[in-house]
Amino acid sequence: MQAGYQCEECEEAIWLATTRAELQWLRNRRHVVREVQRHLSTGLDSWMDEGLAFLERHDGHSVVVVTRGK
Ligand SMILES: [Zn+2]
Repeated sequence: MQAGYQCEECEEAIWLATTRAELQWLRNRRHVVREVQRHLSTGLDSWMDEGLAFLERHDGHSVVVVTRGK
């Protein structure tokens, strides 16, 4: 099963290499994770970087966690 984010306003979706639960966690703690990211020299896992970038782009929009496949 694949999981990702979808913006209900732009109808844009992104699929990420992680689970639905992780994506919900990231969405709820976006501001905390962003702070942590700022202090890391190595960067976060790529799904976190990509997920954060998507959430930033759709700030204030209605973003839902979606899944596809089995
Ligand atoms: Zn949007």
